[in-house]
Amino acid sequence: MSTIFKDIIDKKIPANIIYENENVLAFEDINAVAPFHFLIIPKKEIKTINDASTKDRELLGDMLLAASNIAKENNIDEDGYRLVINCNRNAGQTVFHLHMHILGGRKLSWPPG
Ligand code: AMP
Repeated sequence: MSTIFKDIIDKKIPANIIYENENVLAFEDINAVAPFHFLIIPKKEIKTINDASTKDRELLGDMLLAASNIAKENNIDEDGYRLVINCNRNAGQTVFHLHMHILGGRKLSWPPG
């Protein structure tokens, strides 16, 4: 079943897109929890990281490389940032289209809550 992120991919609903290529899209989180909070998603509909397979190896790599490119382009690479993938209930995943949060612009506490 498709999610709201599919509507963002298809440009049916607006989002603040900062990066897009053939395989990956990145847009601002609507409920930012850090000064810099974007989501990087595969255009392919994958529900959770559990549903990714070896066929998605390159796609998963593209997501990570998109993250570091976005960090560099937005000058948060040297101060640092965090990449987060929430999976299922215990991590609080709310949208079942795989996404990676890129969080930065402030000191992030560890361990996460
Ligand atoms: P997660 O808890 O990892 O599933 O995160 C889902 C994220 O998607 C949350 O941080 C939401 O704020 C964000 N989100 C939900 N709907 C939208 C939307 N239409 N545009 C941008 N971000 C969204």
